[in-house]
Amino acid sequence: MGQPPKETSINSLRRVLELECNKRYSDKAVIGGLDKFLRNQEGKVLQGIDNRELLMSFNNLGLAKSNYSSWDVNKREQWIATILEWIGKVEEAREKKKLTTPALGRPPTVGKTRQIEKVSPELDSPITLIRGITPNTATKFAKLGVKTLYDLLYFLPRRYIDYSQRKAIAELEEGKEQTIIATIWQSKVVTLGNRQGTETIVGDETGNIRVVWFNQPYLAKNFRTNARIAISGIVSSFKGQRVFESPEWELIQTKELIHTARLVPIYPLTSGLYPRQVRKWTKEAVDSWAWQLVEFLPSEIKKRCQLLDLSQAITQAHYPDNHRVAEEARKRLAFDELFLLQLGLLARKQNWQEGQPGNAFNINQVLLKKFLSYLPFTLTHAQQRVLSEVLLDLKQPKAMSRLLQGEVGSGKTIIATLALLIAGDNGYQGALMAPTEVLAEQHFDNICNYLAKASTQPQPSLQPRIKYGDSNVRCYGGILSQPITIALLIGSLSESEKEELHNKIRQHKIDIVIGTHALIQEEVEFPKLGLAVIDEQQRFGVLQRSALRQKGFNPHMLVMTATPIPRTMALTIYGDLDLSIIDELPPGRAIAKTKWLEPQYRGKAYSFIHRQINKGKQAFIIYPLIEESEVVEAKAATTGYEWLSKEVFPSFKLGLLHGRMPAAEKEQVMRRFRNRELDILVSTSVVEVGIDVPNANVILIEGADRFGLSQLHQFRGRVGRDKEQGYCLLIPERSSPEAKERLELMEKIQDGFKLAEEDLKLRGPGEFFGTQQSGLPELKIASITNMQLLETARQEATSLFKNNPDAVKDRDSPLGEKLSRVWQGNIEWS
Ligand code: ADP
Ligand code: MG
Repeated sequence: MGQPPKETSINSLRRVLELECNKRYSDKAVIGGLDKFLRNQEGKVLQGIDNRELLMSFNNLGLAKSNYSSWDVNKREQWIATILEWIGKVEEAREKKKLTTPALGRPPTVGKTRQIEKVSPELDSPITLIRGITPNTATKFAKLGVKTLYDLLYFLPRRYIDYSQRKAIAELEEGKEQTIIATIWQSKVVTLGNRQGTETIVGDETGNIRVVWFNQPYLAKNFRTNARIAISGIVSSFKGQRVFESPEWELIQTKELIHTARLVPIYPLTSGLYPRQVRKWTKEAVDSWAWQLVEFLPSEIKKRCQLLDLSQAITQAHYPDNHRVAEEARKRLAFDELFLLQLGLLARKQNWQEGQPGNAFNINQVLLKKFLSYLPFTLTHAQQRVLSEVLLDLKQPKAMSRLLQGEVGSGKTIIATLALLIAGDNGYQGALMAPTEVLAEQHFDNICNYLAKASTQPQPSLQPRIKYGDSNVRCYGGILSQPITIALLIGSLSESEKEELHNKIRQHKIDIVIGTHALIQEEVEFPKLGLAVIDEQQRFGVLQRSALRQKGFNPHMLVMTATPIPRTMALTIYGDLDLSIIDELPPGRAIAKTKWLEPQYRGKAYSFIHRQINKGKQAFIIYPLIEESEVVEAKAATTGYEWLSKEVFPSFKLGLLHGRMPAAEKEQVMRRFRNRELDILVSTSVVEVGIDVPNANVILIEGADRFGLSQLHQFRGRVGRDKEQGYCLLIPERSSPEAKERLELMEKIQDGFKLAEEDLKLRGPGEFFGTQQSGLPELKIASITNMQLLETARQEATSLFKNNPDAVKDRDSPLGEKLSRVWQGNIEWS
C-alpha cells in the first residue's frame, strides 16, 4: 500500500511537488501530508549538492518549517513554485556537470544518489501489493502483460468515455452521454422482462428520473435512500418517460469519482477482469506510485518538444482532466516509445561500427569495370548510385551496416555480387545468406553465371548448377589475381558434403559462400569473413542476423529487402542501418499488367491461364490469406489444388505449396516449378518473394481483397521477367466498394513505395511492424504512421546520441535504465 516514499533524491521531491500541483494543492500528493514528508526529506535533499549558492538559497525555502496543511491554496501554490524553481537550478547545475564530464570513463557517480535515481524497486513489486488484487486476479492481469506495479502504470486505457458533461435532471437530452449527481429516493429489486434487476428513482432540485439496471438485483441494497449518487450514461425513453438503462454509477463519498462525471478510462480487459475493479486498481496505482516513476528524458528535450513530465503523463493518461490533457499525455508517452526505439537502434549501430575498427577495403576499379563489361546488361542509374554508396562504405575503416531496398527484380543480387568480389579481391571471405534453399541455389546459379561470363580461364564445371546434386563448389580464374572459389552451403547437402565444405571454409579455401541458415551453424568457421550479405532480411530474426555477423571480426554487413517502406519509416525501423534504395527497374521490364475480376468471371481467368500454358508459359495461383490460421489457409489451398487439378486443368501438371508442409517438401515443389517440371504452382501466401522463375508470366490471386497492397505488389513482381509481358489477375472474395477501390489502385499504381504509403493509410502499420521476430520494442501508444512525431523523436535521439553518448550508454542513469528495460537485452552493448 502507499508506503512512505523510500526514494530520497531531489527527483522524488520534485515529483511529489508536481503531483501536488496536479492535485490542485489539495495536500494529497503523499500519504500523511506534505509537511511530514518535507521534514523527512530536508536533510537528504542536500546530498550531492556542492554548489554554495544553491546551498545558501536552500535555507530560505524553509522546508522543515513549512505549515502547508494550514495554508490557503494561493500560498501553497506560490511556495511550491519557489521550491520547484530551486530544484530546477539544481538540476541545471547537474546537467552542466554531466556535459563537461570527460568522454572517457564513466561520469563521476555520487554513489548514493545514483542508486536512488534508478526505478525504485518498489515499482517492480508484483501487483498483488495492491489491496484486492489476489494471486488469482494477478494471473488474469499477467495475460495482459501486467505483472508489476510498473506494468500496471503503463497499462493504459484504450479510450475514454466522456461522462464529463454534467447536467441537471431537467436538462437531460435523450441519446447523449451525460452525467447527473442526484439523491436516491428509493431503490428496489424488480422483475424486468423475465430477469431480476434494480430500479431506482433519483432526483435533484430540477426533477426526478428513473434508473434501471438489468440483471443486477444486488445493486438495490447498496443504494440507500438519501445517499448521493453519480449516474453517467445515455438517457433513453421508455413509454414516454426518460430513463437511464444500466448506466455507470458511483456513490458519492469523499473519494474522487472514477467511474462517472469525468473522462472515464476504458481498459482492454480479459475474462474475469471487470471495468470497475480495474479502474479502482489503476487509480490506486496512479495515486500511490506514479510519482515514483523516474523521469528519464533530459529537461531540454521536454522543453523543446513541449512534453509533460512522465508521472504527470501517466496519471493523465489514466484519469485525464480533459481531452486536451489526455492528448498531451499520450503524446508524451508516444514520444517516449519512438525516442527509445531510436536511441536503442543508434546504440546498436554504434556498437557494430565502433566496437572495434572494421576492415577498410581497397576498391579495385579496374576489376569492377572489367567485370561489369562482361555482363549482358549495364547497370541502371539506381544500381550505379547504390553501388557507389556501398563501395564508399567498404573503403571505410569501420564496418558497413547498410540496408539495400529495391523491388523484386530491381537487380539487388548484382550489387551484392560486386561487393563480394571486392571482399575476395582484398583477401577476405564473403557470405550471402538467404531464407530458403531455393533462393540460395538461385543466387548461387546467378553469381556463378556472372563469374563464368567474366572468367577468362574457363573451368570444367562452368555449367550453371541447375539441379540439386551437382557440384556445390566452383572455381573461376582470371577475374582476381587468384582464382576465386564459390560454394553453396545448404541443409540438404549430405553430411559428408557439409563436412568437406566446413573444412574448406575453415582453411580459407573458399572465398564466397552462398547459403541458408546452414551458414550460421556452429561448425561453420570463417577465418577471415569480411562481408556478410543477408537477402530478404525481413525473413530473419535479429539473432540470426547477428549470428552471421559474429562469424567474422566486425565484417561489413549488407542486408537486402524487397519490402518497400516509406523512407521516414524505414529510417525508424532500421535506424541501425544506412539506407540505399534501388528505385528503378531494368529497362524493358514492366510491372505485370494488372486486372481485377468479379468472382463470377473466374472462368475467364482460367481460360487465359490455359492459353498461356499452351504457349509454353507457367502460372502461379495464390489462395487467400486467412488470418491467424495456417491450417485453414492450407486447407483452402489444398481443396483449390484438388479441384483445379481434376476439373479445370486436368491436362496440366500442378504443384501445391503451403505453410504446413515440411520444409524439404516445400523446397522440392519450388525447385520443380523452377525447373519447369510443373505448369502451375498453387500456393498460399508462403510462396517465396525472391523466387525468380522467368518463364512464369501469369499470377492469379484469389481473395485479393484480403492482402495488403504491398503484398499484392510483391506477388505480381514475380511474373513478367525476361522482357515478357507479365499478367496479374486479382479476384476478390467479396467485391465491396472498398475492395474495388483498393484493387483499382493496384491496376493504376506501379510504384511499390506509393502502394506502401496507400497501404499505410488504408490498413495501418501492422503490415510492416508487428513482426515478433523483429526484436524491436513493441509500440503500444505510438503509431509508426505519425510521421511528424517520428521525425521529432528521431532528431532528438540522434542529437542526444551524438552530443552525449555516455548518458545513453550508462546503464545506471535513468535513461540507460529505461532503455534496457524497454529493449529487454536486445541491444548488444559493447
Ligand atoms: P532482386 O532485386 O529481386 O533480387 P535480381 O537481382 O534477382 O533482383 O535481378 C532480377 C533479374 O534482373 C536477374 O535476372 C538479373 O540478371 C537481371 N538484372 C539485374 N540488373 C539488371 C540490369 N541493369 N539490366 C537488365 N537486367 C538486370
Ligand atoms: Mg532477390
